[in-house]
Amino acid sequence: MMSDIEIAQGSKPLKITEVAAQAGVDEKYVEQYGGYKAKIDYSLLEETERPDGKLILVTAITPTPAGEGKTTTTVGLADGLRRIGKKAVVALREPSLGPVFGVKGGAAGGGWAQVVPMEDINLHFTGDFHAIGAANNLLAAMLDNHIYQGNALSIDPKRITWRRCVDMNDRQLRNVVDGLGGRVNGCPREDGYDITVASEVMAVLCLSRDVDDLKARLSRMIVGYTYEEKPVTAGDLKAAGAMAALLKDALKPNLVQTLEHTPAFIHGGPFANIAHGCNSIIATRMALKMGDYAVTEAGFGADLGAEKFLDIKCRMAGLIPSAVVVVATVRALKHHGGVAKADLGTENLAALERGLPNLLQHVENITTVFGLPCVVAVNAFPTDTRAELELVEKRCSELGVNVALSEVWAKGGEGGEALAREVVRLCEQPNHFSQSYSLDQGIEEKLETICKRIYRADGVVLTANAKKQAKQLESLGFGNLPICMAKTQYSFSDDAALLGAPRGFTVTVRNLKVSAGAGFIVALTGDIMTMPGLPKVPAAEKIDVDSTGRISGLF
Ligand code: ADP
Ligand code: MG
Repeated sequence: MMSDIEIAQGSKPLKITEVAAQAGVDEKYVEQYGGYKAKIDYSLLEETERPDGKLILVTAITPTPAGEGKTTTTVGLADGLRRIGKKAVVALREPSLGPVFGVKGGAAGGGWAQVVPMEDINLHFTGDFHAIGAANNLLAAMLDNHIYQGNALSIDPKRITWRRCVDMNDRQLRNVVDGLGGRVNGCPREDGYDITVASEVMAVLCLSRDVDDLKARLSRMIVGYTYEEKPVTAGDLKAAGAMAALLKDALKPNLVQTLEHTPAFIHGGPFANIAHGCNSIIATRMALKMGDYAVTEAGFGADLGAEKFLDIKCRMAGLIPSAVVVVATVRALKHHGGVAKADLGTENLAALERGLPNLLQHVENITTVFGLPCVVAVNAFPTDTRAELELVEKRCSELGVNVALSEVWAKGGEGGEALAREVVRLCEQPNHFSQSYSLDQGIEEKLETICKRIYRADGVVLTANAKKQAKQLESLGFGNLPICMAKTQYSFSDDAALLGAPRGFTVTVRNLKVSAGAGFIVALTGDIMTMPGLPKVPAAEKIDVDSTGRISGLF
């Protein structure tokens, strides 16, 4: 069997100018990065008259260590739509170097449903993340310099919230002491690094409508508090203009193609826990502008990824999805039915049945809470048996849940035609889209609404600390922001061990923080890692490049 990188390297991509032309992008907007990548100028959005296409969100059941295949399905669905004669465009996140060198590997799809050039997409791409890191660290430098130069804003060095960042899994940098070396070398303080995708600058870039909005959001970002506990912002430090200047090209979506030459915008990649976990609003709007169908992905399972996509991103951008695809795998269903990872390759119809309630709760959330047409895509793995695939389809049909088998990993777009036809049908169905909570609810009330309606918890418990933070945030005027839940992706609950569709639990919120530039309140149910580490055997040990520049070992 060919590996993902072998399939990708065996493909014959079109020149990016041809892909752009095929997508209807006028060449004056195309800024080429070599032969197969380009940035598309954002002025295209203001200057193109075309009506928007239909927005399709790809999300998934509660993730398992086995992997569900959302990106793979997103790419294959778009290729499938093309094959049945529809003008489809993909919008995806950019991979972070951390996971590429760590455990997860690449994030450009898999099998015969990939975006190319996958090596470039996975390694640096067009440099967006480095620009975001530079902007983040410019702000950090200006902040510490402000304190060093006399601290006119009375920033309390013990209440600095802004951290430095780098796009690498590097646990050594989680906590550092810097500014050492005496009077001329800075003010010593405890500091730390996050991975670049966890920087608020990343979330801001992905939620900005245009350069002006980017600057306004950067200005609002809070870097710390004064001795009187007043927030200090990037705007107070006069940093937003220079940060935006560093980001002017990073704000332009990147255009590449799938193995079957479907145009794909790949742009931005915020963390899915402390941020909203989907590609930029600008890239999604470009995909809608250039395609009759724009297919996009949200991270984690539908309780987190889709919820944030719908409650945060769609609300901020004024987007209304036409259909939602919930990816499920036989392996993941068996996992939710209690099967250990090592045994997922063995047929087990009873466990499969036991795992179904997890899938059904996600589907019900999409259809009844958010009011959107929904289809389950069963992402077929080589280990699935016919009896297992049939059982999932049969149970879904009996319960009135739309379902389609997706064989895009093995067959590319051809394996996505059935799903594509179902998606096209759903896009014409009645759409009663509404968010799961309204912004004018109090912070605690919004949390309770999400926990009860989406997770089916009995309620939410705020620690004394979180209650105090909620009051402070409301008094600072942040009470009307949407909520960004940061909880485990492995369960509907805040306990990773509760698989399936648990009931009779409460969710504990321990910390509330505002991301004032991104425009949401992050609710943390536990410690969330914002600087991952490398595993015992990092994927990096296998990655190499030969004398011709050909890369190997990426997956
Ligand atoms: P997600 O976007 O949900 O994280 P990906 O689409 O990135 O998942 O897929 C995760 C991994 O699983 C990739 O390495 C991909 O090649 C593999 N994969 C996805 N679908 C299949 C499938 N049907 N059969 C075998 N491997 C698959
Ligand atoms: Mg993915």
